[in-house]
Amino acid sequence: MLVLSSPSGAGKSTIARTLLENDGGLELSVSVTTRPRRGSEIDGVHYHFLSMRDFERMRDTEALLEAAEVHGNFYGTPREPVEIAMDEGRDMLFDIDWQGAEQLKATMPADIVSIFILPPSMTELKSRLRRRAEDSDATIQTRLENARSEIEHWRDYDYVVVNDDLDRAYAAVRAIVIAERLKRDRRPGLFDFVSGLLAERTE
Ligand code: 5GP
Repeated sequence: MLVLSSPSGAGKSTIARTLLENDGGLELSVSVTTRPRRGSEIDGVHYHFLSMRDFERMRDTEALLEAAEVHGNFYGTPREPVEIAMDEGRDMLFDIDWQGAEQLKATMPADIVSIFILPPSMTELKSRLRRRAEDSDATIQTRLENARSEIEHWRDYDYVVVNDDLDRAYAAVRAIVIAERLKRDRRPGLFDFVSGLLAERTE
């Protein structure tokens, strides 16, 4: 379970998208949200857009693995797709905030690798939010104010990547994924492979 968090506008979504395009073994966990859909978003692809009532119903029936209020809207991770992916040994990517990361870590600590993406400066963060131009001025202002408190949680993550250059930041995240997959404990097939290797005759 690969968790990516950052304040809005730090480039996390772009990094996540590039990762998904280039890594066939990684699947996105599509969250539910009560936030209004942006023009460029597709229901069921970027989020499952829900009414507050439907969100509460999912949360109250434990259909969500974690849930949090972010910037005045509610977000949550549907439980079922994650459990199926875990059972089948597939890797999943979570674009969620620090509250969600904390809740996932509390339930499945061994399965989580977490990365926090930082902007190079607050000025750059503000201009990235403006350039996106999909949110109102009031929304941009709320997100900027919230960015500071989100950044304060950087210590809770396994890795921290500063996105001063998108290609470099992406390469760093990709390297983390590759290294984490090579960890001995995540490779149940390795025992048989090494046993076979040692049993192989070479004369
Ligand atoms: P946005 O509204 O810009 O798509 O997302 C706002 C914030 O909510 C981002 O930091 C994003 O990572 C976070 N978020 C998205 N989905 C979830 C979720 O399912 N759970 C939690 N805890 N945060 C989420």
